[in-house]
Amino acid sequence: MSSADLRPRVRFAPSPTGSLHVGGARTALFNWLYARKYNGVFLLRVEDTDRARSTDESTRAIFDGLEWLGLTWDEEVVYQGANVARHYADAHRLLETGAAYRDFTPASEIERLRAEAEARGDAFRFDRSMAMLSDAETAAKLAAGEPYAIRFMVPDGVTEWHDLVHERIAFPNKDIEDFVILRSDGTPVYNLAVVSDDIDMRITLVMRGDDHISNTPKQILLYRALGATEPQFGHVPMILGADGKKLSKRHGATAVGDYQYLGLLPGAMVNFLALLGWSTGDDTEVMTLPELIAKFDTHGLQKKAAIFDTKKLEWMNGQYLALTALDALAPVVAPALVKAGLTTAEALDARREWFHGLLDLLRIRSRTIDDIVRQAPPYFQPTVEYDPEAVTKQWRDAKAAAEILAATRERLAALPVWEPVAMEEALRHLAEELSISGGKIFQPLRVALVGLTVSPGIFDVLQYVGREWSLARLDAAVAYLTADSSAA
Ligand code: GLU
Repeated sequence: MSSADLRPRVRFAPSPTGSLHVGGARTALFNWLYARKYNGVFLLRVEDTDRARSTDESTRAIFDGLEWLGLTWDEEVVYQGANVARHYADAHRLLETGAAYRDFTPASEIERLRAEAEARGDAFRFDRSMAMLSDAETAAKLAAGEPYAIRFMVPDGVTEWHDLVHERIAFPNKDIEDFVILRSDGTPVYNLAVVSDDIDMRITLVMRGDDHISNTPKQILLYRALGATEPQFGHVPMILGADGKKLSKRHGATAVGDYQYLGLLPGAMVNFLALLGWSTGDDTEVMTLPELIAKFDTHGLQKKAAIFDTKKLEWMNGQYLALTALDALAPVVAPALVKAGLTTAEALDARREWFHGLLDLLRIRSRTIDDIVRQAPPYFQPTVEYDPEAVTKQWRDAKAAAEILAATRERLAALPVWEPVAMEEALRHLAEELSISGGKIFQPLRVALVGLTVSPGIFDVLQYVGREWSLARLDAAVAYLTADSSAA
């Protein structure tokens, strides 16, 4: 065996029946981190055997989501639907070895028995004796072309494994029914298709959601019956909403694509997802991708369900907004500003330094790209709208405010350079002359410049709004306030 064959091989195996859900993305991430950490191979398998529910659109959304998160796969995508001939052959191989048997029971009969059992309050279990026919009976049914399903004959005993997360898990085989592996229409059932493909893909570790735990004993039995060595298994915890219920649309966005369009940074999303069911053991939370790879360890995988806390995700994104280099952040924010109708890509390119500086300013008070966009209009549009609350709070005495703003305008207009240090000096002087605090100048000025009571530091605002627009806004504010007072 060459050393390449010893590399761990893991996979993410989504069913393309919807968008990439955060739970799926988290499972993909754990597998990806595992592969990157242990010099392994991360594979993607699209489980599209359910023709009725699988769509190309969903497959596309899964690829897009994984690409956005940076979870690249190492070999060509495997489409499960392309392997049905092998699944079929494997089922028939089990039939030949006696590990499986033909079940000619008509579907209608199974349905009737199931309904009866339910009426009694029991769970239906297929009774093997129903299918046990003599060779002659089987031959006759085959000759008559009667359809049959293939069922796996669950042996006696206990099926157990050492789970990477839960440690020992054991299922008494008597609790496992002889499950169907190939339907009477020749299509494989999930457990068979997965095992057949995982063997073919030489998967060494199956890491997936807790909801698959009850499938694992069936799959282990199939590996053994097919003469293959079973991989390791690890079942990662479910993701719940803040109310402790299974994460669903009620909790807000659950698709990775939604977060992409809400203006989240992919690095923040990855970091947040990594902490859903895994921890470093210390308090470290904000980790770059290389750090995550370095720290990832299956011992940190948790048994208890993880809580999807959108507040934490926003917080994480705020951390990433602050950490990301402006060169990397600008291309992510630019399209959002363009989409909001505030500017064009060309205009931003032409004022690159100004744009990066502005971004550095606006990201301080932002947790999302949308927060940045929301604060941006005063820097891109000549005029601003006044928030009524800001007017009431900071311009309560219209006459006094107009006087202060007029004086402010005069001092700023007289400056030889439009530069924060000079502005601050000039306005502090003015405050002294008027025997008022700096705030009495800066607060009304802020409303004039951005229309709000909050903004980045006022001298930065003046600088980024620019001389011409700033002075025009001061004129407009004075005009607004004097018009108001004469009307009153
Ligand atoms: N296709 C299955 C699912 O989306 C996953 C199968 C597996 O990981 O074994 O739940």
